[in-house]
Amino acid sequence: MSLRERGPVNRRQFLSRFGAGAVALVVGFDLVARQWVTEAEAADSTSFAAAPSLDGTLTFDAESIAANSHDQGNIVFNTPCAVLRPGSVEDIRKMVGYCDRHGIKVAPAGTHHAMFGQPLVSDGLIIETQSLNTIHSLGTGGADVDAGVLWKDLIKAAYEQGLTPASITSYIKTTVGGTLSMGGIGMMSAYQAGAQVDHARQLQVVTGEGRLMWCSDTQNSDLFEAALAGLGQCGVITRATIDLVPVKQLARTYRIGYSEIPTFFQDIRVLANRGEFDSLGSIPQPGTAQPMTLWATVFYNPGDAPDASRLLRGLSPAADTAPFEDSDYLDYISLVTNMYDTFSANLDWDAKVKPWSDLFLPDGAVEQYVESVFPALTPDDLGPTGFGLVFPMLRSSYGRPLLRLPSGASGPWVWLVSVLTDSAEPGPDPEFASRMMERNYRLYQEAAAVGGVRYPHGACAFTQADWQAHYGSMWTQFVSWKNRYDPSGILTPGPGIF
Ligand SMILES: Cc1cc2nc3c(=O)[nH]c(=O)nc-3n(C[C@H](O)[C@H](O)[C@H](O)COP(=O)(O)OP(=O)(O)OC[C@H]3O[C@@H](n4cnc5c(N)ncnc54)[C@H](O)[C@@H]3O)c2cc1C
Repeated sequence: MSLRERGPVNRRQFLSRFGAGAVALVVGFDLVARQWVTEAEAADSTSFAAAPSLDGTLTFDAESIAANSHDQGNIVFNTPCAVLRPGSVEDIRKMVGYCDRHGIKVAPAGTHHAMFGQPLVSDGLIIETQSLNTIHSLGTGGADVDAGVLWKDLIKAAYEQGLTPASITSYIKTTVGGTLSMGGIGMMSAYQAGAQVDHARQLQVVTGEGRLMWCSDTQNSDLFEAALAGLGQCGVITRATIDLVPVKQLARTYRIGYSEIPTFFQDIRVLANRGEFDSLGSIPQPGTAQPMTLWATVFYNPGDAPDASRLLRGLSPAADTAPFEDSDYLDYISLVTNMYDTFSANLDWDAKVKPWSDLFLPDGAVEQYVESVFPALTPDDLGPTGFGLVFPMLRSSYGRPLLRLPSGASGPWVWLVSVLTDSAEPGPDPEFASRMMERNYRLYQEAAAVGGVRYPHGACAFTQADWQAHYGSMWTQFVSWKNRYDPSGILTPGPGIF
């Protein structure tokens, strides 16, 4: 059926299009009632625009709608009117074009691991990208994958060929498209490697007008920049080529406790500047004798065990006898994912309210920020399954313009500082959410006052002025990309940027 074929159809026309055995539960949109309609409703409607014929399914059964009405944060609840499970990229192209023509909002959703309604849409269409999840090819030249592929599946397939993605987030049951839209800070991989968006070589994108386009640094480069860390504002990423690097088989993680926050920062900077570890970071434990523990991980192959006396030389506490844990590479990479899976299975973690605060701090301000924020946290601020994070990131390895990081010349490092708050009990809990949202906005403002920037995965209610300040020198460019690639403004309203 032609994309341009639309407008009211009668029952005979409808049956000739969809046939008696049609699978689609939703067959179109009532342009006057502004709602999706079933076959039975369509037959009586005079203002019915038939949906394009699809390889996948378009549905609005209660279960699909409920599953797409919230994300992991359980703070924002928005009910879509229909859910597309695409059977092909062509389905996405057709349906985005259809929504564009009829002014229907659309949100692509991966695994809904955002915390503040980013993948949700009220009264619109959700595209569940996970139904397209083929790994098309994989080798030293990179992996060519559908956007609905889960990182855990890509990591496993790559490992079988002695390879791994250059940048890997802590939780890996997320989609390639979901993290490329957010940024993808590689906390399980090299802190000098940049984000996942820095390791996408090529993308296939469906723009807001339903145009299918390929883009890269050399082809349609403005769309490439608009899509990477673009929060789904200018297009739906449907396929990506991701860098792969050689993998080592084992991981050794040393843990060194610090009673003083300044000493922790002194030592982690020493290790970061030396560049001999693969992953560095800390999970602060406020109120304990050692409020900062430095985690330092090095990857290695059998027969080439790390030498602690060399790697940990010259640190403030003598650290060459620091305790360590060895893991197989895949076990190490899955550590955080397995932990959250256990929380989900035993503690109803998926239903908890999660007002997470994720901020990037400049090097010159991080120490004071951590000293002021973490000791002041109450048990409520973290909850029984929550914790904080402090991770260094090599500023020069992050190059995508929409992944905003502190600018200015305060050293080579910027820092991810997170307060990952989980409610004690499963939600919803509007009072708790609103209290924590106020806290998050305060944490954001305190960070912004010293040059900090928000990582937009977390829960923080931004005003228009905040978004403009967030994108800073990129704001005008982002607006122009939005107007060019989503002129009707139908794509991904969840983040609330435009
Ligand atoms: C336990 C946990 C640990 C995490 N650890 C890290 C970490 O280490 N590093 C890090 O950077 N992040 C981390 N995150 C955040 C997570 O990576 C992001 O929220 C990511 O966007 C989730 O991917 P998803 O597939 O669930 O996307 P969703 O939550 O479904 O979507 C996120 C946003 O991207 C848009 N989107 C989704 N798919 C597409 C697409 N194909 N095209 C265009 N737009 C799309 C959505 O509309 C939405 O706005 C963590 C989150 C959790 C819950």
